[in-house]
Amino acid sequence: MRLKDKICIVTGAAQGIGLATAQKFCAEGAVVVLCDVKPEAVDAAVGQCLEAGGRAEGHVVNVTNRAQVDAMVAAVKARHGRIDVLVNNAGITRDARLQKMTLEQFDAVIDVNLRGVFHCSQAVADTMVAQGSGVILNASSVVGIYGNFGQTNYAATKFGVIGFTKTWSRELGPKGVRVNAVAPGFIQTPILDTIPDKVIDQLKAEVPMGRLGKPEEIANAYAFLASDEASYVNGAVLEVAGGLTV
Ligand code: NAD
Repeated sequence: MRLKDKICIVTGAAQGIGLATAQKFCAEGAVVVLCDVKPEAVDAAVGQCLEAGGRAEGHVVNVTNRAQVDAMVAAVKARHGRIDVLVNNAGITRDARLQKMTLEQFDAVIDVNLRGVFHCSQAVADTMVAQGSGVILNASSVVGIYGNFGQTNYAATKFGVIGFTKTWSRELGPKGVRVNAVAPGFIQTPILDTIPDKVIDQLKAEVPMGRLGKPEEIANAYAFLASDEASYVNGAVLEVAGGLTV
């Protein structure tokens, strides 16, 4: 019960790593606010958390829409009186090589993966600073460490999220708010659905552990970083990648 009674917001929580994180946080005793753009999937995800005995509620939020983000944060604050943890997990890919990438593909990824993280973090920062405590966790990627073929837009956002993390850890650390990032390797979630099986096999072969990661393995990292066990961890980028970057 490392997150007992903590009020935790998880974006992109309807599936994949976000859902696994919401479930893990519930199991650790948190009150979890699941946010996603997909209304029915949010309801289903909240249902799964409740069925397992967790305390969870859903909000349909597009993180690119500042008014929706502000309204969600205001609702959480009004209902619970505080915000302890924000996991900026929502993220998308729109892959293409540099010479083929459209401006729409470029802008869509920047909007969700970078602007969305900015929106949500800025929206909770005053509350956390006023409390003198809080944790912001950002979803980076190994692609934000060494780049990736066909992912100009995505890699830029995942490098950018590390820049956010280090900057906010300096700005907010003195106020009692810790900011860290997780850099997953290749994790078995729907985000990999567009990658051909042949390429997935090549990716697995590059991982010293010889397999993809599971969403629960990233959720475990978020739970550690969100908890008081990580009380002196600030501005860090935790790779959870089976040794992929070694
Ligand atoms: P996923 O596609 O399975 O889930 C992402 C969720 O985000 C979806 O439920 C989607 O509806 C939601 N979402 C998308 N746009 C949104 C928006 N504008 N507002 C709110 N919600 C939105 O992805 P995943 O694999 O679980 O990845 C989660 C995070 O982890 C992402 O930031 C991703 O970049 C990062 N990551 C994933 C991997 C991987 O291999 N799966 C590796 C490294 C990093």
